[in-house]
Amino acid sequence: MKRILIVEDEASLALALEDDLRREGYAVRVVADGETAAREGASERWDLILLDVMLPRKDGFEVCRDLRRAGIQTPILLLTAKAHEAEKVMGLELGADDYVTKPYSARELRARIKALLRRSGADTAATYTFGDAELDFARCELRRAGQPVELTPLEYKLLAAFVRRPGRVLTRQQLLDEVWGSETFVTERVVDNQVTNLRKKIEPDPDRPRYIVNLRGLGYRFDG
Ligand code: CA
Repeated sequence: MKRILIVEDEASLALALEDDLRREGYAVRVVADGETAAREGASERWDLILLDVMLPRKDGFEVCRDLRRAGIQTPILLLTAKAHEAEKVMGLELGADDYVTKPYSARELRARIKALLRRSGADTAATYTFGDAELDFARCELRRAGQPVELTPLEYKLLAAFVRRPGRVLTRQQLLDEVWGSETFVTERVVDNQVTNLRKKIEPDPDRPRYIVNLRGLGYRFDG
């Protein structure tokens, strides 16, 4: 049974979440303030933390940052009340894995939770398979039809970044931060060049990519 920590200070919302997720078969626990959330999140093993942003004592952004600084890797899904909070989530190096904007539908939230749990499972899995390709995380190796394909370290990191979030749009900036590091000053064009190189190694037809899809004006999405 997957264990979910719900951090929500609005009693009626917390109750609805608790009911809904219990019915879905999760073990859940509710806490209502940021300090308790930071303590609970760090002291017990959760499969996922559902974290409201506006909280008494400590807001969700701080809780998130605290947990990541403490080395806690548990997937965090932020519940943001406003669109500008959502933008902040994307812009800051908070370490949150995803966010949902309030008011959310119960169905949307359940879908996001499932996706996140699946993704974190993929993180700890030894390999990820798509088409005839297999990415081996332990050996940092890509194989196609069983044969090793040579990747540069950057190509490997880029592919791993995509594979960890299948179906999700990643902006060039997100990819830069994750693959090149937020301290380096390279342009977003570099991402495009590396994607082109990577496609030659993983796509059946690099001119008509089916795995790394370009979304004009948004970024890239891995459909593997
Ligand atoms: Ca709140």
